[in-house]
Amino acid sequence: MTRLILLTILLIVVARLFWRLVDAVMAGARGDAAPGGPRRAPVKLVRDPVCGTYVPPRAALSLTSGGSTHYFCSEECRKKFDSRQSAVGSRQ
Ligand SMILES: [Zn+2]
Repeated sequence: MTRLILLTILLIVVARLFWRLVDAVMAGARGDAAPGGPRRAPVKLVRDPVCGTYVPPRAALSLTSGGSTHYFCSEECRKKFDSRQSAVGSRQ
């Protein structure tokens, strides 16, 4: 009878360790619940081609020209870029 109790305890301990391992693997696969708090997704920054400032696309002003989108820190930079583009165009 004592052996059966010991075996049961051992099984519970092993099962707990196993589930802890599974939990860790699952958390790792999801990329969250990392020790030391949830990991933040790195914010991708875009470069303002006029002044060289890095700005988050959500906060930036955008201008699509020639099939590509450019991002600017301010309306001033966008205007500068726009006039530069048209200057290049008129030279040709
Ligand atoms: Zn700028």
